[in-house]
Amino acid sequence: MSVLIVGSTALDSIKTPKAENPRLLGGSASHAAVAASFFSPVKLIGVVGEDFPKQYLQLYKRHRIDLEGLQILPGKTFHWSGEYELNMNNRRTLLTELGVFETFTPTLPKAYQNAAFVLLANIAPSLQNHVLNQMSRPKFVAADTMDLWLNIALEDLLKLLKRLDLFVLNDSEAHQLTKEDSVFAALKKIHKLGPKYVIIKKGSHGSILSSPKGFFICPAYPLQNVVDPTGAGDAFVGAMMGYLATAKGSVEANIRRAMIYGSVTASFCCEGFGLTCATKLKRTQIEKRVKELEKLTRF
Ligand code: AMP
Repeated sequence: MSVLIVGSTALDSIKTPKAENPRLLGGSASHAAVAASFFSPVKLIGVVGEDFPKQYLQLYKRHRIDLEGLQILPGKTFHWSGEYELNMNNRRTLLTELGVFETFTPTLPKAYQNAAFVLLANIAPSLQNHVLNQMSRPKFVAADTMDLWLNIALEDLLKLLKRLDLFVLNDSEAHQLTKEDSVFAALKKIHKLGPKYVIIKKGSHGSILSSPKGFFICPAYPLQNVVDPTGAGDAFVGAMMGYLATAKGSVEANIRRAMIYGSVTASFCCEGFGLTCATKLKRTQIEKRVKELEKLTRF
């Protein structure tokens, strides 16, 4: 089964304490799509401008990502720039240029409307709702968000939450949404807004799932050298959805294992700038780290 992914398709200019790299391939949908592609076929919905480098289109194609839903419009590609502190869990946005995203309202190709697994990666909640409106009967719908939408589009986001199976957000966003300090208290409150499954990401400290069967704590893979964590959250949920789309049995039974695969795939994303490491990855390397995580957490 394939995964339909909508989100930002961007050029990212990233600054870390050690290096600076302009105009890399980025965006929530790009990171999520590449991560998901290690597990299942991906259909991408996004928009780029005429300045979007051809080699980035080739990169999507090398990952067999279906680009029928990617529009190329006159104008500039969404450009985001961010700078990391020495503690790479902390980052500030330097610049967001919406470009062609400003007026983007996609019409889904027919072949996309029946996708069983849908990932609404970080983008305006009105757009996430708009895409979901065009789906016939997805089996499982997940969404991610960011602080910006909690600030400027809360009403749309609350509408979306009622339509989701899984909502993924990071700990500061969970605090912002619920005003709870404890992630466990926040998880309980978020369920009341709609989603059956909620995952709170805690950067290099892993993630926590809350489901009808209780909590599950998923570790981050222990990395000694983080080069650039941009997109790790997107890679996490992208890989999770890719894994879920091909796993046998019920979603409930597979979701914890999917988180481990998400965590490992995200770890590779952090080891290079932008998508440089993730795109060289082999499935066998993912399986090796999954086994290591299994050993690290067994007692
Ligand atoms: P993450 O590190 O998981 O927060 O994801 C970073 C990615 O989000 C980058 O590749 C950016 O291009 C993308 N991004 C940043 N700001 C926005 C925004 N306002 N809407 C959608 N995507 C964004």
